[in-house]
Amino acid sequence: MGTLYIMATPIGNLADITLRALEILKKVDFIACEDTRVTAKLLARYRIKKPLISYHQHSKLQKTDMIIDKLKSGQNIALVSDAGTPGIADPGQVLIQRAIENKIDIVPIPGAQAAVTALSVSGFFANKFLFLGFLPKKKGRQTLLKNLARELEIAETIVLYESPYRIEKTLKDLQKALGDVEVVVCRELTKKFETIYRGKISQVLSPKGTPSGSKIKPKGEFVICLRKKD
Ligand code: SAM
Repeated sequence: MGTLYIMATPIGNLADITLRALEILKKVDFIACEDTRVTAKLLARYRIKKPLISYHQHSKLQKTDMIIDKLKSGQNIALVSDAGTPGIADPGQVLIQRAIENKIDIVPIPGAQAAVTALSVSGFFANKFLFLGFLPKKKGRQTLLKNLARELEIAETIVLYESPYRIEKTLKDLQKALGDVEVVVCRELTKKFETIYRGKISQVLSPKGTPSGSKIKPKGEFVICLRKKD
């Protein structure tokens, strides 16, 4: 039996990869990745040549089975996503479940993860927090928003992912649901245009901007951290 490595990769800055991850990328038989072009860039940076197999959220079950068969035949495989840790708002779960069913060794290779990276600079209470990934776009969104105030009482800090297209709408919806709570909105973490906006929701959305800087620029990738009112 081969080993399935669940490997974190950088969330922007290609230097954010561990030595162990690089060693394993060099030694596996192939890499299952979300977008071969994205992973090819990472490999080129470290002069690693490896066969890539695309494995994304729309991959058919046959693809999962093909990877499982390779593992059963003794090949070692690394699963990576485009950024961060596979399985966290990213593909991975189905393959990992099938590997568990087939008693294949699964080894985590930890590294970057966007939610924890944002939380680490938030200054918010982070001994316990609730990670909700992306809010649903339509079905279930209102119910979840309605329950959020209660969740925030328990967790004290909530972390969410959002795209540039919905960042402003989501912040407005959060304001309606929770009041004008304090947020830390992290944009383009580890990248050239990394920006951290701190303030009340009204401030990060206001054209005047926050006490610490400008209004949110809806471009790039975002993590929202929010905390309950004192
Ligand atoms: N598995 C990844 C992880 O947990 O790090 C997350 C993948 S998810 C498909 C992509 C979302 O993660 C983005 O829409 C954004 O909300 C967040 N994200 C990823 N990289 C980011 C970055 N460099 N800066 C801010 N947010 C980021």
